Amino acid sequence: MTLVIKQQLVSSRAKTYAGVNSAKYITIHETANTSAGANAQVHANLQTRGFSASWHWQVDDKQAIQSFPHNVRCWHAGDGRGAGNFESIGIEICVNKDGDFAKAVENAAKLTRKIMQDEGISIMNVVQHNAWSGKNCPTNLRNGSKGVNWADFLALVKGEESAKKEAPVKESPKKAVTQSEASPKKKSPKTALSVDGKWGKDTTRALQKALGTPVDGIISRQPRNSVTTALYGGTVSFGSGNGSPMVRALQRKVGAKADGKLGTETVRKLQTYLGTVRDGKLSRPSLVVKEMQRKLNNGSF
Ligand SMILES: [Zn+2]
Repeated sequence: MTLVIKQQLVSSRAKTYAGVNSAKYITIHETANTSAGANAQVHANLQTRGFSASWHWQVDDKQAIQSFPHNVRCWHAGDGRGAGNFESIGIEICVNKDGDFAKAVENAAKLTRKIMQDEGISIMNVVQHNAWSGKNCPTNLRNGSKGVNWADFLALVKGEESAKKEAPVKESPKKAVTQSEASPKKKSPKTALSVDGKWGKDTTRALQKALGTPVDGIISRQPRNSVTTALYGGTVSFGSGNGSPMVRALQRKVGAKADGKLGTETVRKLQTYLGTVRDGKLSRPSLVVKEMQRKLNNGSF
């Protein structure tokens, strides 16, 4: 079964740290809320209303709900300004007594694998909350009292990951066929960019290379709008100022106003330039991004 993924993004940044989360780690938690009905939706709502802590995802036996983009530094790891809060993505697994914990863990493993692929995070960097602060969390996975322990969780994550890994190993003959489907080796410069329509750090890096601007995978000083919030995996850094040099170069190339800030006008010009639907929207995933990735791969962008 595919995992049901939903977004209910919290707009306030009151319960987060300033600055950009580098998304190097994934931190696994349990909510410790055993009340009946204390599922992912309830925890997402808690964050929407402004809880005293914050985390990126909550997952139960039915679905995963995202509350914050991965580039936000949430308050979940209990290590203050340490790497737990500053460099990790927090996932809360629900432990409501009317839920199926084993199924929730399975869903958390699926979500973890997806985030690992999106962000280029290794299984070595999937850690317990305990690793950052010494707290006994995720409690049930740590003590195995519900029949599934930490090793089982990692095996679930790895099992699915290694199955997916088979494809890219076959290098040259099937490259064109395999690159549209999950390519975990995204960080390697030798591997072609995944043509998946998801504009994350690797796409930004390829774009920066093609446009001759500094290659760091980050689109700096961007406004928060429908386009920039549709980007993946911490590639966008929000803020004010004169925008990004890469975006300015892109805008010049496609004939948009060169203000360095991504928005619907730039997307519309990019869509015109690439010959895709001209609606100014960046979907998740997006056809115009797919086409851009294809062209970046064959050097024709
Ligand atoms: Zn925790």
